[in-house]
Amino acid sequence: MNPQLLRGLCYIAASIFFVFGLKMLSSPRTARKGNLVSAIGMLIAILTTLTAMTDVKWAWLIVGAVVGSAVGAMAARLVKMTSMPEMVGLFNGFGGLASLLVGWSEYHWNWAGSNQTILFTTVAILLTVLIGGVTFTGSLIAFGKLSGLVNGKPILFKGQNLVNAGLLIAIVVLSIAFCATGQQAPEAERGSLPYVLLVISILSAFVLGVLSTIPIGGADMPVVICLLNSYSGLAACAAGFVIGNNVLIVSGSLVGASGLILTSIMCRAMNRSLANVLFSGFGSATAAKGGGYQGEAKPISTDDAYLMLEAARNVVFVPGYGMAAAQAQHAVRELGELLEENGAEVRYCIHPVAGRMPGHMNVLLAEANVPYEVLVEPPDVNPNIEMVDVAVVIGANDVVNPAAREDENSPLWGMPIIEVDRAQTCIVLKRSLNPGFAGVDNPLFFKDNTRMLFGDAKASITSLVSEFKQ
Ligand code: NAP
Repeated sequence: MNPQLLRGLCYIAASIFFVFGLKMLSSPRTARKGNLVSAIGMLIAILTTLTAMTDVKWAWLIVGAVVGSAVGAMAARLVKMTSMPEMVGLFNGFGGLASLLVGWSEYHWNWAGSNQTILFTTVAILLTVLIGGVTFTGSLIAFGKLSGLVNGKPILFKGQNLVNAGLLIAIVVLSIAFCATGQQAPEAERGSLPYVLLVISILSAFVLGVLSTIPIGGADMPVVICLLNSYSGLAACAAGFVIGNNVLIVSGSLVGASGLILTSIMCRAMNRSLANVLFSGFGSATAAKGGGYQGEAKPISTDDAYLMLEAARNVVFVPGYGMAAAQAQHAVRELGELLEENGAEVRYCIHPVAGRMPGHMNVLLAEANVPYEVLVEPPDVNPNIEMVDVAVVIGANDVVNPAAREDENSPLWGMPIIEVDRAQTCIVLKRSLNPGFAGVDNPLFFKDNTRMLFGDAKASITSLVSEFKQ
């Protein structure tokens, strides 16, 4: 068979593996297999690409593969689950940098001296280095904010949006100038006009990546990381056009599209637009607080909570960030099992933005061996929530705030929530009446059917487990 045709078929096979792998990643049940299927696709893509290359520098490839595998194996052991968002942030940044280097080397080494004068390639190189540059520095800032190396608060200054818009316009002007001169230039030698324009464009993209990420608060970083993930895919896709590699175009598009879809899901679940996440400085001292609800919260002891749960036949656990902070997931699973032994139906309702990263609660509950079948989503529970005897809210706050339904002035107005206030009884486990991430007061705490079990979530659940065991 014609080798080129064979390579094309292998690339199609790799792309099919990617698509199926991605599909399998959408459910916790098939996610591990999905990862493996995608990795096989990548292996096919790499081997196929190697067969197409002449003059392969094997020594460099082997050193790179060994170093990369060692770093990956170490990261898999050392990085904690809770540090995954910053780890992904760093990966995105390196993905962007890799694409930038591909674009740069094509321009500098392969193009220099050749008579390549195609506008298409010029634009592809430009997009690769620009998107890659923004992704690189933006991801480093996101990593810094999440890991605490950079202050997580939004860094705001007067005229910030104007400065960013000015920089963006400058990059567009530089890009047009580069395309106008670059494609006619016979070589990309150091010091030539297109060379200088490209270098200034890359430096501007670095600055834009920093400036567009610093005004975003640390707690909004997971959304930004999804967006930067999407950018890294787009940069890889553009790099695919630069070097004429179809499988890179396909995989880059898949990453770009899935990152955008996840960004949109998270924004919708928070009832905020992407523009609001990117430009409002949410979490700064000046951001809207809302709330101010009056009423009397009804605190209960673990003994009271035990009696309520002991009598319940239908229980829904609603985990939130506090469960992660308290590391209460194992105790929660144990309590769930005891309730089931006691004859209750037990479900775990997970809101898409509960916690601080996509899938945060799913990962913690999976780690505690909670079966996938009992994990449900708000639309599975809300329509019949009045049939639930006890809803146990474990360190969740914003995702159960009824102000989203009841108070048009609340910053959370319109956000889809888990409507625990409509259950027969709601027990809220947290340490105080303080607001959650959004900084918005919660009228749930003052409802007639709400009881507050104050204290660290793990300590409270562990006490309940002991009472059941006795
Ligand atoms: P939340 O609204 O931030 O509330 C968490 C609650 O946990 C706090 O009110 C806190 O109350 C309590 N808590 C903290 N430590 C605790 C402990 N050791 N024991 C018991 N309680 C503890 O959390 P959420 O309901 O999960 O909502 C998530 C929020 O993050 C949403 O506003 C969402 O939009 C935002 N967000 C999520 C993501 C994501 O990807 N998941 C991304 C960006 C933003 P006390 O201090 O009184 O204990």
